[in-house]
Amino acid sequence: MRTGAAQVALRILQYATTRFMNKLNVLIVGGGIGGLAAAVSLQRAGFRVTVFEQATAMGEVGAGISISPNGALAIKHLGLSDEFHKLARPADYQVVRQWQSGNRLAQVTRGERLMQTYGESYYTVHRADVHAMLARAVAAHDPQAIRLGRKFERFEKDASGVTVHFEGGESARGDILLGADGVRSRVRSQLFGPEEVRFTGFIAYRGLVPMELVPPEAMDPPCQVWMGKRLMLNRYPVSGGRLLNFVAFAMRSGWQEEGWSIPASKAEILEEFAGWHPHVTRIIEVAPEANLFKWALCARSALMRWFVGRVTLLGDAAHPLLPYLGQGAVLALEDAAILGRALAAAPNVEQGLARYEAARVGRARFIVERSTAMGEVWFGDNPDSFNHDTPVDEELGLFAYDPGSIPV
Ligand code: FAD
Repeated sequence: MRTGAAQVALRILQYATTRFMNKLNVLIVGGGIGGLAAAVSLQRAGFRVTVFEQATAMGEVGAGISISPNGALAIKHLGLSDEFHKLARPADYQVVRQWQSGNRLAQVTRGERLMQTYGESYYTVHRADVHAMLARAVAAHDPQAIRLGRKFERFEKDASGVTVHFEGGESARGDILLGADGVRSRVRSQLFGPEEVRFTGFIAYRGLVPMELVPPEAMDPPCQVWMGKRLMLNRYPVSGGRLLNFVAFAMRSGWQEEGWSIPASKAEILEEFAGWHPHVTRIIEVAPEANLFKWALCARSALMRWFVGRVTLLGDAAHPLLPYLGQGAVLALEDAAILGRALAAAPNVEQGLARYEAARVGRARFIVERSTAMGEVWFGDNPDSFNHDTPVDEELGLFAYDPGSIPV
């Protein structure tokens, strides 16, 4: 039992520690959804933050994204729930259809039940809307916090801080460095050594179609997954129903092209989906070609260690994954919420980063492994045998995770 005086001394120490930690300056490399969410989380916890993004203009790729309840709870912790709910739509009902006949293979009802069970729903939203929402929140707190056109080259760390160097010779000094620079993370390569970024054998096509071009009969219901032999297409409305987003996954033995946003031609996507039901092919036919892109899905290992000294990682930089459970951006949002809480609760940087790592490594690795395993479910030889009325993500318990209250 502590005496009154000891309790007062402990409180003073805790207060002084918090004041000290709050004064720290965190440098974030990468202004994607993960880096910006981390910036919001750290600002809310009282830290000074600077985000360095290589792109010369802020923005995200033209594509949709699904945000499951655990991601929406992370957004709530960032204080952005009201804004998010204005941008996103609950995806309450989804059917899975057979590629040629359009027959219903499964139906997924999420609806109000998720809100009651987890405190949030399952949403679909335009990536650019989520990205802009986060960027606005960072800039509202500190208009100088986001620096564009800064391509990270290398860092130097010592006992008192980290110096970051950018292409062109500029540098910046801070107390902590966070690498949120995606699957090809250079921060990660310097921290843990170079590791090849592997092509996983899957590619993704993405498109956005103005809703007035979509045949109304193809919208029953608005959220649909179409399954063929080793080929799959997922489509749902975004931007308040003004656009229909589609993402299609196919397999390839190799991939030569580099880049995140490679233009795709309508002809190549139609060739991929030749013979499919008109509710699929028609949507590809009417898609404006300028809105069609393709990606190689690449991987690196999911790390067991996430920090060394004052340098740590977040999002795809730490745990790149296949998108087959729709959890990549959601995991980055969870990381962000926990990082802010862990650093704010710890007496020093090392302990804060250790708490962050301890809270996150197991969960991230689990979701990475399960996402890879989902490849076999989505890309089997016999789509007619698909019968998952209860979605695998919910069966795995992925939604039962509130990053605002997990112990750190
Ligand atoms: P990124 O989004 O890759 O951002 C990294 C940022 O760092 C970029 O802005 C980049 O320009 C910047 N950067 C890189 N190098 C440097 C450098 N040297 N210097 C400065 N800046 C640098 N997730 C979901 O939750 N739901 C979904 O429905 C979903 N669907 C997906 C569909 C597809 C086809 C794909 C490919 C992914 C999908 N994901 C989904 C996963 C999700 O997109 C990623 O997990 C998420 O974008 C990771 O965010 P991040 O901020 O960690 O990395």
